[in-house]
Amino acid sequence: MKITEKGKELQRHIQDLRNTGKKIGLVPTMGALHQGHLSLFKNAKRDNDIVIGTVFVNRIQFNKKEDFEVYPRDLEKDKAILEDAVCDILFTPSEEEMYAGMKDLTFEFGHLGEIMEAAHRPGHFEGVAKIVHRFFDLIKPDTAYFGQKDLQQFKVIEKMTKDMKMPVDLILCPTIREDDGLAMSSRNQLLSKENRPVAAKIYGSLNYAGDLLQFGDSVEQVKKKVAEFISKFKPLELEYFEIADSETLIPAKTVQNNKEYVLCIAVFLDGVRLIDNITIIS
Ligand code: AMP
Repeated sequence: MKITEKGKELQRHIQDLRNTGKKIGLVPTMGALHQGHLSLFKNAKRDNDIVIGTVFVNRIQFNKKEDFEVYPRDLEKDKAILEDAVCDILFTPSEEEMYAGMKDLTFEFGHLGEIMEAAHRPGHFEGVAKIVHRFFDLIKPDTAYFGQKDLQQFKVIEKMTKDMKMPVDLILCPTIREDDGLAMSSRNQLLSKENRPVAAKIYGSLNYAGDLLQFGDSVEQVKKKVAEFISKFKPLELEYFEIADSETLIPAKTVQNNKEYVLCIAVFLDGVRLIDNITIIS
């Protein structure tokens, strides 16, 4: 695996590969890698000749300074993990490298910029879109890989690439979970040992909500019951739970039969913000 911190060096390397007709897949990450990330790398290797991974903790997508400061980082471990995985080039830029050349772009996310994550994390998606645009502009990948866990982020990036006419295929990969159902996340390592078991109730609450919908509960009833369910598992704290159209992510007021919905949740545990979602057919 080749490792570089320099955009220019990366571009030279990519140019050589492109000249020999290689197809390039990109996996952008913030590091503290886990099996969820590795699944994206595996998917990328399946579809491409060359896989480029990035590790960059993107300050401008954090709406809270403390959250940025405590975000897990272990670049040496990440390098070791990727050496054994299917990554051909690892790009680990500095902030100077990424932000100095950043275009002053404004994005239009429509309703995606107002609901769920956007409503609770002001400026978050602007920061995500800016950095992903910068990576796409620099690397010009044929394909880029993202996880279902951050579905709204995926939809935002999809809209950004369409609006900016960026010729990249975006691939959404399934959420990888721990044995007890907790969606893998770099933030999970911030959970206390004592409270870690409670985190399984996040996925539990989504499955519970899915069952309630199948049994004919209304959106309002399900929301109420999910809030009650979460409140039973202290110190879990619910930030939001939504039932949304799985394609548009527009929150549903009522549920129609035989339609795909995504159930989305954000909670706090030990001061750590965790999100998850599942898709269901009603
Ligand atoms: P992050 O490093 O958390 O910014 O995530 C980088 C990419 O990995 C994003 O596209 C995430 O959606 C994806 N990802 C994070 N956790 C998981 C998971 N448990 N399963 C699948 N993909 C994931």
